[in-house]
Amino acid sequence: MNVISRTSLLHYIIDGLWYSAMNGQRKNIVILGSTGSIGENAVKVALHLKDELRVVGLAAGSNYARLAEQAELLGCPSVAIADDSLAAKLADSLPEGCEMRAGMDGVVEMVTGEEVDVVLCAIVGADSLRPVLETLRAGKTLALASKEALVMAGALVMRAAAESGAVILPVDSEHSAVFQCLEGRSSDEISRIVLTASGGSFRDWTADRMRGATLDDALAHPTWNMGPKVTIDSATLMNKALEIIEASWLFDVPGDGIEVLIHRESIVHSMVEFMDGTVLAQMGTPDMRHPIQHALTYPMKHASSLEPFDFAKLANLSFEVPDRNKYPSLDFAYESLKTGGTMPAVMNAANEVAVDAFRSGDIGFTHIWNVIEGVMGRHHSNSDPSLEDVMAADAEGRVRAFEKIGGIRV
Ligand code: NDP
Repeated sequence: MNVISRTSLLHYIIDGLWYSAMNGQRKNIVILGSTGSIGENAVKVALHLKDELRVVGLAAGSNYARLAEQAELLGCPSVAIADDSLAAKLADSLPEGCEMRAGMDGVVEMVTGEEVDVVLCAIVGADSLRPVLETLRAGKTLALASKEALVMAGALVMRAAAESGAVILPVDSEHSAVFQCLEGRSSDEISRIVLTASGGSFRDWTADRMRGATLDDALAHPTWNMGPKVTIDSATLMNKALEIIEASWLFDVPGDGIEVLIHRESIVHSMVEFMDGTVLAQMGTPDMRHPIQHALTYPMKHASSLEPFDFAKLANLSFEVPDRNKYPSLDFAYESLKTGGTMPAVMNAANEVAVDAFRSGDIGFTHIWNVIEGVMGRHHSNSDPSLEDVMAADAEGRVRAFEKIGGIRV
């Protein structure tokens, strides 16, 4: 078993139970990407569990006003903003005594503080990689929402965790579900993982109609309320593609052991079939506060602030095989996993650039796939990449994606 290496997880559970029983002390947490969708939900969880969780650090990209409000609300002693041109504005808005850092170095410094127990990383995109690696190198527990870091550099991330003994606790609802289904089990006992997908905004659209999809159409997610990038990734099913790679690294299962099913109701968050044919599923209301709270309080359980799940209101649970012709994203993921090395980093980079281009109106919705396919097709993967190789592949993916976009600009 991987992450979640059994030894470090076992120590983590024992330490957590002992810590809580003996001290009743609060866990000190840092929230990176606190102003985003996951970050705001984490703030709600921290406010709800203020006797168990103490927020000792917050970081955002550029939203200094909200960052300052959050620092006030949580009584947080330290904040960081990635865009250092906004440092002065942030400094003017912060409550007295709150320490401030600026730039990506400032964000990364937040994770290594001696008092920090858990770092929740919810920075969107490739910027998450450095803080994720530094968290693990510092031996801190990582509550991981930023799937892009694991997609780009899965081998390096897992190695950093193994070397320091740090534990990674998944926040993505699907991976949190698999983690919960696996508790006490080894990945050797898994026969397959079934990741569920809502199907995104265009699940009932034809491939033809999707060509004319607008940004508003893509952002109208049927079940989850999330940040813009992940909502568009959901509509292309690139989110699920990233999650296949994420699951492969976290649970040490090859691509052909990971399936995707469209599950419209978003109640079953994912399933694990074991070698004896037993299937475990994890269910609940589609609200990210559940998996966030699970990761932040693990191995303890605390009362939730959410309404209990009502089975009586549940008319149906449906599962469909996704149409791979309509959604080429899943093939990109399986191909990336098969090729390995730097291919997933290139796929991720091309996707990030293509999503930005769609958001700014430079390309149509379905061009996102053309960009990714074109960029992956030109990449020669480096099989055992260093961090420098991964960053070079990321840069190459971005340059080639811009070239491709130049050729198809609408
Ligand atoms: P959002 O776009 O809503 O938020 C992104 C956050 O990252 C913002 O706080 C942003 O700050 C911050 N940020 C951006 N760049 C930097 C940087 N360089 N340093 C520090 N902070 C930075 O995204 P989501 O919350 O939706 O998603 C975050 C991650 O979680 C993604 O990887 C996504 O795939 C994953 N995820 C999200 C889910 C969801 O429900 N939203 C579900 C499962 C996974 P600012 O506001 O100032 O720009």
